[in-house]
Amino acid sequence: MEKKILIKYGELTTKKGNRSFFVKTLKKNLEAKLQDINCSITMDLSRMYITYDSKDEERLLFILSHTFGIYSYHIIYTCPSTMDAIQTLLTETVEKEEFKTFKIDIKRSDKTFPKDSRYLAPYFGGVVLKNKKDVSVDVHHPDVIIHIEILKDQTLLYYNAYSGLGGYPVSTQPKSFLMLSGGIDSPVAGYLAMKRGIKIEAVYFEALPHTSLEAREKVITLTKKLAQYTSFIKLHIIPFTKIQEEIYKNVKDDYVITIMRRMMYRIMEMLVEEEKGVAIINGESVGQVASQTLNSMRVINAVTNVPVIRPVACLDKLEIIDISKKIDTYDTSILPFEDCCTVFVPKHPVINPTIEECLKEEEKFSFSALLEEAVKEKKVLKIKDVEEKQFQELL
Ligand code: ATP
Ligand code: MG
Repeated sequence: MEKKILIKYGELTTKKGNRSFFVKTLKKNLEAKLQDINCSITMDLSRMYITYDSKDEERLLFILSHTFGIYSYHIIYTCPSTMDAIQTLLTETVEKEEFKTFKIDIKRSDKTFPKDSRYLAPYFGGVVLKNKKDVSVDVHHPDVIIHIEILKDQTLLYYNAYSGLGGYPVSTQPKSFLMLSGGIDSPVAGYLAMKRGIKIEAVYFEALPHTSLEAREKVITLTKKLAQYTSFIKLHIIPFTKIQEEIYKNVKDDYVITIMRRMMYRIMEMLVEEEKGVAIINGESVGQVASQTLNSMRVINAVTNVPVIRPVACLDKLEIIDISKKIDTYDTSILPFEDCCTVFVPKHPVINPTIEECLKEEEKFSFSALLEEAVKEKKVLKIKDVEEKQFQELL
């Protein structure tokens, strides 16, 4: 059976000049995600409609619940804008809905429609009361709000409202690179960055054989989970072993992590330049560990002028965990496979490093060629949405 969904935009509506660009990007994103579903999308600057087959409804609703730039979406019924047609549609559809109390909400965009809302709300309320047993009107806390929107060319009737994720459509901001470890924070940072419309590519620093292939699998799974919010994400795997071993061999113990992170940032900058990205995104959170004190951040950040976005910088760990549970990355993140930062942690990492000390430590070995080699030898995977089987489990 052919059905229709109405999509209302979120924050988009505030973007006056750019509105058309934002809406077109949302449409493009949905088309990419809905490739396997037989449906058609039409839009104007204030809303979008998807016509689809009812057999695809579950999957379609799942996709809409994972797309940024949507304020709400509603399964709708439509009919011509006449009193008779609306009454017939209401009588036919109200039977199938389950509720005890209701309220009628009339929007009369077509001001030439002969009756106004003050007349229409009680009138259609009466129609419901006549056609459905044991229901009553409750204007304050109804089980269901019955929306009737009278437009010029058609009338929309809908009973339900699904909340969308809000935010901006992915790709309304340019490509940026997410430092994705296997931890809790960085997938959340990636999610929040995408919510602002940033198109992300993920970067994982790997130190085989000190870290395991299971750790890599974990990062791939996390990338897949994030990819549900867009159509695919590229994952760059950087071989970091040689650099890390050189650091370990040459740098004084308490500066190992600081220098390691400066090397990561340098590689991130090289990737941003090479791949024409704009920013670096990571899961650093102020004060969480020694390398994330404000002083540490300043010293680590000093190696690059590329903007570094830290979406979870000012969140508590518990707030970050809440989001990671909501976006279903938490269970993967807490799997116990070590990544390169956890393998090489010194007993007493410096809390207030200085740039002078860093430069002194970095003079002890030549790293430029190693950084270039690491970038040259990276592996790139194109990671798509979770597979159909996993998708079924997620529902
Ligand atoms: P997470 O922050 O993901 O929970 P974590 O708390 O162990 O992991 P840190 O080691 O403190 O993270 O590193 C801070 C940030 O640096 C991470 O959030 C991530 O963005 C980045 N990062 C750390 N290790 C790696 C890695 N191996 N590959 C890519 N990015 C990394
Ligand atoms: Mg962290």
